[in-house]
Amino acid sequence: MSVTRRALLWLGGRPGAQRIVQRTPLSRSMVRRFVAGDTLQDALHVIARENRSGIGGILDELGEGVHETAMAERAAADYAAALQASRQQAVDTTVAVKLTQLGLLIDQEGCLSRIASLCDQAEGAGMRLEIDMEHSDVVDATLQVYRRLAASHAPPRLAVQAYLHRTPGDLRSLAELGTPIRLVKGAYSEPEDRALQSQEELSARYRELTDWLFDHHPDPAFGTHDGAMIGYAQTAARRRGLGRQSFEVQMLYGVRRDLQQELARAGYRVRVYVPFGSAWYPYLLRRLAERPANLRFFLRSLGPG
Ligand SMILES: Cc1cc2nc3c(=O)[nH]c(=O)nc-3n(C[C@H](O)[C@H](O)[C@H](O)COP(=O)(O)OP(=O)(O)OC[C@H]3O[C@@H](n4cnc5c(N)ncnc54)[C@H](O)[C@@H]3O)c2cc1C
Repeated sequence: MSVTRRALLWLGGRPGAQRIVQRTPLSRSMVRRFVAGDTLQDALHVIARENRSGIGGILDELGEGVHETAMAERAAADYAAALQASRQQAVDTTVAVKLTQLGLLIDQEGCLSRIASLCDQAEGAGMRLEIDMEHSDVVDATLQVYRRLAASHAPPRLAVQAYLHRTPGDLRSLAELGTPIRLVKGAYSEPEDRALQSQEELSARYRELTDWLFDHHPDPAFGTHDGAMIGYAQTAARRRGLGRQSFEVQMLYGVRRDLQQELARAGYRVRVYVPFGSAWYPYLLRRLAERPANLRFFLRSLGPG
């Protein structure tokens, strides 16, 4: 991982830096590129537009690392409202949550009860939840809550990060639960003893896990904009005699829209992850860290004019 990338991800976790960046005239267009807007309705509007091109949504209210119960409860209430509004407006979308947003860092019991209640509401509305995977410090706790949830509910889709050394082992036990997976490369700054650092090793691991998902998990999803990884998934499906609807390609709002549309037109299942809300700072810094060219736009937007 480059020094710039590591520095950006480090800044993403610093409240002091956050205050400085949020006070600067950070160009609205930089945030707007990756975030649908401040409100639920902004995100639903974007997803409804994507639906017209045959692309589904993954609705996400920005927020993570919550340390106050009242905030976790408010996030759960917001997600309940998001499920209800999506169903009422007949929008084709799933809903993605981060467990630290629902109080994982406060207490596991409270977090489990909030996610279980959201699962019930999603099932009642005929919708599906997806659980994002966060920094490696919280992977154990996320999996503990997930396993307990899966004991009493249809297992929601779970994101797993190809870069973590532990992931192949985690997947072996998740396969027994029939977990639908979203395979991503991983977006956080992680040390060498926890995660692969080279792109070559990461690509090889991603391909290996792609095969694993096709053979051992229901309805695999690939959360990537990397044409080579998507091409590998397409070939892996073909080799098994599976069609274009047998897996899902998921991408982020604001990234590779051309490829999203091309895949949807070619008959693949595509979903786009659409975040909304005002807690955009750590999300934006992760997106900037993923691509050096984004950093140049970002630095320009911090300057005058
Ligand atoms: C739907 C979805 C959900 C995700 N959920 C999680 C999660 O739960 N946990 C987690 O750790 N990570 C998550 N990620 C992020 C993921 O881990 C990667 O950090 C991110 O997708 C970049 O990796 P890539 O596979 O696209 O490949 P890369 O090799 O990084 O990118 C391939 C190409 O895509 C384009 N691209 C990629 N990122 C950007 C960007 N930010 N701006 C502009 N262009 C870009 C560039 O053209 C680049 O060359 C998610 C990603 C997606 C798409």
